[in-house]
Amino acid sequence: MKNQFHAETTKLSLVGKHSHAVDFDQSKDDHHDIEFIAARLPAVLQTSLELDDVIGLFHKEITKILPYDSLHYQHLGVHCDISTGSRSHHTCNYRLEMNNIWLGELTLTRGTKFSDADMQLLEDLLCKLIYPVRNCLLYRQAQTAALQDKLTGLNNRSAFDISLKREIDLAHRQHMPMSLIVLDIDNFKAINDSYGHSSGDSALQSLANSITETMRGSDIAFRYGGEEFSLILSNTDSKSAYLLAERLRIAASQLTCNDGKLNFGFSISIGVAQLNRAEQGTSLFDRADHALYQAKKSGRNISICAPIITSKDN
Ligand code: GH3
Ligand code: MG
Ligand code: MG
Repeated sequence: MKNQFHAETTKLSLVGKHSHAVDFDQSKDDHHDIEFIAARLPAVLQTSLELDDVIGLFHKEITKILPYDSLHYQHLGVHCDISTGSRSHHTCNYRLEMNNIWLGELTLTRGTKFSDADMQLLEDLLCKLIYPVRNCLLYRQAQTAALQDKLTGLNNRSAFDISLKREIDLAHRQHMPMSLIVLDIDNFKAINDSYGHSSGDSALQSLANSITETMRGSDIAFRYGGEEFSLILSNTDSKSAYLLAERLRIAASQLTCNDGKLNFGFSISIGVAQLNRAEQGTSLFDRADHALYQAKKSGRNISICAPIITSKDN
């Protein structure tokens, strides 16, 4: 019993260092809060797999037992940068790492100095944060991988379906133009047959790089499947989309690939369509794909724009 009391008062001194007027009963409550909040912290942090949520929950919980003015968490690798409160003079900074996996950097600030006891408490709390943070990062990684094409690094078909719906909804809501480009490598089967499948793969990779270098910052590129790619162009009418399509086509025609011995090149054909009023994704895609089909029929290495439907037609 005596030991227990001693333990309580010792624990109390960890948090009570900056508070001179703490009586015993109050201390006991504080102690209870620390034990209680620290004990439930892992369960609270496990309620979400979103990094922003977990850092937000961590802040909400620990601020009850460790007063501070601001918290800043940063993980540049996953573009996560969270700040709460306003920065004060005294800083307490931790670089979080587990088994050589970078988990981000956390900084607390406040007007009064952090005592050793404060830092000890914070370290105990951080130990409960690192597993949930690692789980969030693994979840993010899995999410990204599920939407990314492994060969080219571009967004994949699943990402296309999600983005197309989102961008169309946005375009309709904001009454902004939007266009879609679909493109396909010409006679790609012959490239595989002549230079081998792995040379075909590297042709796909150089085309993906060329698309990324040629498109604008606001465009989103996808490997739709096989040797077919697509681009969603927000805030773009068919005239501008066609100009971009031509830039893409010319850039592709200037690429040089190599099978280890021989150089080879290829061309692409392109279909372009601008979103009509009230149109949905399937229809827009079908019109762009039909324009691509026309481009193939016209002899390949050409961009064709789907007819623009005037407002009275749609
Ligand atoms: P077209 O000009 O009409 O588009 O003719 P094409 O030969 O490009 O089209 P086709 O549909 O006949 O052939 C496409 C080829 O693309 C067949 C398929 O084996 C190949 N292909 C699809 N995905 C990949 C891939 O990931 N890597 C490689 N190397 N080839 C692929
Ligand atoms: Mg093809
Ligand atoms: Mg094809």
